[in-house]
Amino acid sequence: MSTLSYAAPSSVKEAVALLAGAGGLAKVMSGGTDLLVQLRSGRVKPDLIVDTKKLPGIIGIQETASGFVIGAATSGAEIGEHAGLVKAWPGVVEATNLIGSTQVQGRASLAGNLCNASPAADSVPALIAARAVCVVVGPKGERDVPVEQIVVGPGKTSLAKDEFIIAFKLAKPAARSADAYLRFIPRTEMDIAVVGCGVSVTLDAGGVCTSATVALGAVAPTQLLVKAAGDALVGHKLDEATLAKLDAAAQAACKPINDKRGTIEFRTKIAGVLARRTAAIAFQRAGER
Ligand SMILES: Cc1cc2nc3c(=O)[nH]c(=O)nc-3n(C[C@H](O)[C@H](O)[C@H](O)COP(=O)(O)OP(=O)(O)OC[C@H]3O[C@@H](n4cnc5c(N)ncnc54)[C@H](O)[C@@H]3O)c2cc1C
Repeated sequence: MSTLSYAAPSSVKEAVALLAGAGGLAKVMSGGTDLLVQLRSGRVKPDLIVDTKKLPGIIGIQETASGFVIGAATSGAEIGEHAGLVKAWPGVVEATNLIGSTQVQGRASLAGNLCNASPAADSVPALIAARAVCVVVGPKGERDVPVEQIVVGPGKTSLAKDEFIIAFKLAKPAARSADAYLRFIPRTEMDIAVVGCGVSVTLDAGGVCTSATVALGAVAPTQLLVKAAGDALVGHKLDEATLAKLDAAAQAACKPINDKRGTIEFRTKIAGVLARRTAAIAFQRAGER
């Protein structure tokens, strides 16, 4: 009979050593809102759970001169209550706060949302659009990895067995910059995104876009950083011709599946519509700064 061991180390070194030394499947745990559900259903059968929540700095948000460092296991609730982060990165915060219910928000983290590696994870397109970087720890120390390089397929990440995410870094946004996130779900809440879209833009004093990043979720095996969609915005105000180019670029990037939530055609069409709407919110926010 297999046994499940649980450890809650108090140092990164100890956590890395536990992961490296595990004989069978070892799973890192932050809030547990994905992992514990998978454990109960039997979908995941780990031999060891390494709970990160006692690690110094893994819960909490630091505002520095250059931006924000968000501990990997910081809950959605805490993220939503951080005034500085809400002001600087409203799209990242609104995406994070869409995860689950009030109860789930008390535990669910950015690291868990990313490393569960669901193509529909809500915070991920917003983090990619915001050019967020993960701080990954392992036996060789720390390394910075852009968020879009972590997930390599459904349920799969690029992290080694003895690595985990300790924090996320977000730069301080430039003047007249803002982000936004929208998702389409068949219900009003507590559902999985059929499509998700994150957009981050910087405008000049005349309202012309000087920089843009667009990311899509749930339309491919991993979240997509859609360079052509960002390029469609740069050099333009948000007129109909620009929106049409953005819409077309978003649709062209999609490689979705048919499932009970939406067909390939529906998801592709919605990706274009969401890109338009999300960009409109980001432009409006940036213009008000
Ligand atoms: C009722 C309910 C509703 C939900 N609604 C939504 C929703 O609307 N949108 C959405 O996107 N998700 C939703 N989820 C899924 C889940 O809540 C989120 O994905 C959440 O962000 C996971 O975070 P966590 O801290 O609980 O992760 P955990 O369960 O702790 O971990 C999830 C995965 O990430 C890995 N992991 C955790 N921390 C780290 C780390 N520091 N480094 C490396 N790997 C790590 C774990 O090993 C595991 O594989 C819902 C879940 C429930 C139960």
